[in-house]
Amino acid sequence: MELRNCPVCGKLFVYNHINLCPECLKKDEEDFDKVREFINNNPKATIEEVSEGTGVSARKILEYLKAGRLMLQSNNTNIVLKCEICEEPILTGRLCEKCSRKLRNNLIPDKKPMFVDKNMKGKLHLSKFSKDERRR
Ligand SMILES: [Zn+2]
Ligand SMILES: [Zn+2]
Repeated sequence: MELRNCPVCGKLFVYNHINLCPECLKKDEEDFDKVREFINNNPKATIEEVSEGTGVSARKILEYLKAGRLMLQSNNTNIVLKCEICEEPILTGRLCEKCSRKLRNNLIPDKKPMFVDKNMKGKLHLSKFSKDERRR
């Protein structure tokens, strides 16, 4: 059993592969549902509009997308998510099909320094966007 401090509220909780306390996790899931619904109902919304409409921060919305939890609709022209290697527009995750296949096949050993780990630390290590966000 491992105790950790929740990165969101600071409370101590029992770590179980998810780096959030149960309360924040629940909140996160609610946020996620709100975002997903909003995007489904407003496929043309920009990320700012989604953020305003749901009360969820733009950064978090991007995290959902990059973690592959949320997927843009193909007719969404206002939220542009790009492959981190070739900059092709993608609908979810961090890499386009082609690049992720390439990575899987050879280039990156198991350390996977480029991927967000599943426990949602809330840090997107190599993302240009999150660097900019953090500076604010
Ligand atoms: Zn918490
Ligand atoms: Zn690519």
